[in-house]
Amino acid sequence: MTTDRTLPPLPFETPATQADLDVMRAQLGRDMRGVISVARRCGCGRPAVVRTAPRLEDGTPFPTSLYLTLPWLVLEISRVEATGVMAELTERLGRDDALAAAHAAAHERYIARREELGTADEIAGVSAGGMPTRVKCLHALAGQALAEGPGINPIADDVLTGIDGAGGVTLVCRCDPASEEDR
Ligand SMILES: [Zn+2]
Repeated sequence: MTTDRTLPPLPFETPATQADLDVMRAQLGRDMRGVISVARRCGCGRPAVVRTAPRLEDGTPFPTSLYLTLPWLVLEISRVEATGVMAELTERLGRDDALAAAHAAAHERYIARREELGTADEIAGVSAGGMPTRVKCLHALAGQALAEGPGINPIADDVLTGIDGAGGVTLVCRCDPASEEDR
């Protein structure tokens, strides 16, 4: 249904260098698998959202193709999640038709974007973060919003606007300077 839809390019996408892969390892504490590119960077240049293949090297399907790796932002979003806001947002989807339609459109966009890279039958129709009808993981939704730019994932846009440094045209660097030593 979305496979023949041509999307505009991801606005911030850049190649992933070996140095980026090293930073991702420091960010995650493990190797990031299936890396295609860096979909968004922190103001300091470190990867913030990594674009991954729909199927990893070992054959595992991987639906979350816009993966948030930036530690300070992962932590901030975890803090937002800890307030229990996902239940409230899911409930809002049930009574706000415009928001529900935008959330469903973000779901379709997520899949169409991933299918630019190929398909994996096991995850056909599956996006991320609880879309299209729920809000389960704000990290996944934020990954899409940061990669695609504002106006695609309104719930994540709202969350990012509420986080110092995350809601603007550039991600204001709040990286721990000590993590430089991991590079
Ligand atoms: Zn930074």
